[in-house]
Amino acid sequence: MNSEELIRLSESRSAHNYHPLPVVISSAEGAWVTDVEGKRYLDCLAGYSSLNFGHSNPEILTAAREQLDRLTLTSRAFYHDRFAEFVTGLSELCGKDMVLPMNTGAEAVETAIKVARKWGYEVKGVAPGQANIVVMEDNFHGRTTTIVGFSTDPESRDGFGPFSPGFRIVKYGSAEAVREAIDENTVAVLLEPIQGEAGVLVPPDGYLAAVREICTDNNVLMVADEIQSGLGRTGETFACDHERVVPDLYVLGKALGGGVVPVSAVVADADVMGVIGPGQHGSTFGGNPLACAVGDAVIGLLRTGEYQARARELGAFLHARLADLGRQEHGVVAVRGRGLWAGIDIDPSLGTGRQISEALMRRGVLVKDTHGSTIRLAPPLVVSRDDLDWAVDQLSAVLREA
Ligand code: PLP
Repeated sequence: MNSEELIRLSESRSAHNYHPLPVVISSAEGAWVTDVEGKRYLDCLAGYSSLNFGHSNPEILTAAREQLDRLTLTSRAFYHDRFAEFVTGLSELCGKDMVLPMNTGAEAVETAIKVARKWGYEVKGVAPGQANIVVMEDNFHGRTTTIVGFSTDPESRDGFGPFSPGFRIVKYGSAEAVREAIDENTVAVLLEPIQGEAGVLVPPDGYLAAVREICTDNNVLMVADEIQSGLGRTGETFACDHERVVPDLYVLGKALGGGVVPVSAVVADADVMGVIGPGQHGSTFGGNPLACAVGDAVIGLLRTGEYQARARELGAFLHARLADLGRQEHGVVAVRGRGLWAGIDIDPSLGTGRQISEALMRRGVLVKDTHGSTIRLAPPLVVSRDDLDWAVDQLSAVLREA
């Protein structure tokens, strides 16, 4: 079947919960993908940062293949021989004591909420049923009903209530707002160190450090959702590292699965994670042997520091080029980001983010729009400098033609 037929069939036989660009990908390597007609595209979305290490990364694929031939699933009813190494490696990468592995990002966020509430009741001494968690405007933490219940995006939230109580929404980027929202029943502050889905919003310098201090002063857990920002994307292992901030809980996902399988986790010290006992939380697939083998390979790649360095160096190059574009080309309203991650606001009079994305697609660059007129660039960290240069040239050409 050709692209057109595959798209028609997909649309008639699946829920319309996505509005994909009209491209049907059939193979990929590194930063490039190929569609069913053989046309190549530079992938500047990288599976929303799930493909930080590139498509078909040889180390990750080798680990997955070897594991596939040996053992894929046991459930956590038994131990398996890949588990210990994975949880040890991930705890060490995070500088924490313990890991609770899950599969998707939303599950890991749910896990962090449960851990924080239980810690609040058992350790902090909050009265039963009274715990609250401070969250941010414009957050994106996933699609479960609890999580969309504290979203401020009507599209994510409307029509899915009733929602779970116990969340206080404050302005992102204001440490003062966090301080004011905290009371004696607050168990956690949950935030994205950089808000990805909101348009790659980078908070003011010093914000994360200030939130860290407020959390410590008030005996409140700082929970960093590094699902999109973590594991090399911003030029450090974690986006919190830019402010030398260590949260109480790291929430990880996406790139932890190497672009092969869903792997997510919450990582914390024993005085926090220790509140979870047998039978209180779990997942049939969480921490399965294949996931652990892939996760291990990912941790090995991060240990080298090579990917963080690439994101730092190529990110500086990308942002310099985008800043130039903003100066020379009409239509660029703002550019934000850190490392190999950029949100670009386009003048809405030139077209919607969707129209700009479609024009880029025709020129061989895949990006995803968000919130009307913002497009974001988040290529795999294996992308070359020449590829980035070329992608920015294509954006420049699209803006000139718009
Ligand atoms: N948290 C953040 C910061 C995300 O960007 C996402 C996904 O985009 C999620 C959570 C949810 O992850 P998943 O789609 O794997 O449930």
